[in-house]
Amino acid sequence: MIDLHVHTARCGHAQGSVAEYVQTATSLGLEVLGMTDHLPLPESVLKRDPRAAHYAMPELELADYVAEVTTAREAQGRSDHLELLLGIEADYIPDEQEYTRGLLSRYPFDVVLGSVHMIGDWAFDDPDLTDRYAEWDIGLLWDRYFIEVVAAARSGLFDVMGHVDLVKKFRFFPDGDLHERYVALARALTDTGVAIEVNTAGLRKPCAELYPALPLLKEFRRAGVPATIGSDAHTPSEVGFGYDLAADALREAGYDTVAVFKQRRLREVVL
Ligand SMILES: [Zn+2]
Ligand SMILES: [Zn+2]
Repeated sequence: MIDLHVHTARCGHAQGSVAEYVQTATSLGLEVLGMTDHLPLPESVLKRDPRAAHYAMPELELADYVAEVTTAREAQGRSDHLELLLGIEADYIPDEQEYTRGLLSRYPFDVVLGSVHMIGDWAFDDPDLTDRYAEWDIGLLWDRYFIEVVAAARSGLFDVMGHVDLVKKFRFFPDGDLHERYVALARALTDTGVAIEVNTAGLRKPCAELYPALPLLKEFRRAGVPATIGSDAHTPSEVGFGYDLAADALREAGYDTVAVFKQRRLREVVL
């Protein structure tokens, strides 16, 4: 079992320390655990939105987070079968790519997840901001969201795109076929070699399904896009959440391996 997407209390909306995550992962027999807390957000975002202080860890804590993961890795000892990765989940913010690149270059991350959580100044996945869906034509919102994910994949900042169809979280689905959007995203990922994750958090949200939906996962498989698995745990008890369902979806889509990372290099392991 692998889990390449978990968060700690440092981000302000999750629970648990790295040591607690490692303890749970070890007791479940995980082979790989990727710590991927939220990368600090830039001043421009923090200034325009007071809520953003609870979306990611403060910039001052990034060094402590890295040290916490490194210390946990050192404390593991050789007998432990768990491989612990120093990862991070970074927001794709079109106007702040240099800020993001700068922070990411500061530490020896094993894996960087890239996520689109914001459209302009709107954190569309925040349950307290769902009234803003009424301002949108949902088809145009989906177009805009997929354009952002494609741009994020092409930015060169990320190894894996996180929860690639997050826009479905609150069940605002457009009319008509989603296929064209799916194909454009699969093409961008093939062009760039960026992987995707099967993220089980969707099962815990109103959309009640995996990110990505099975037809999108099949499109990725057809295009040769590597896939990993993440629970997006925001508390240690969610480590490995829904792993079997994620593995079943991957097999149904035709995958027989999953991607893991070390020093930002991808390797495939048997599913
Ligand atoms: Zn989070
Ligand atoms: Zn996320």
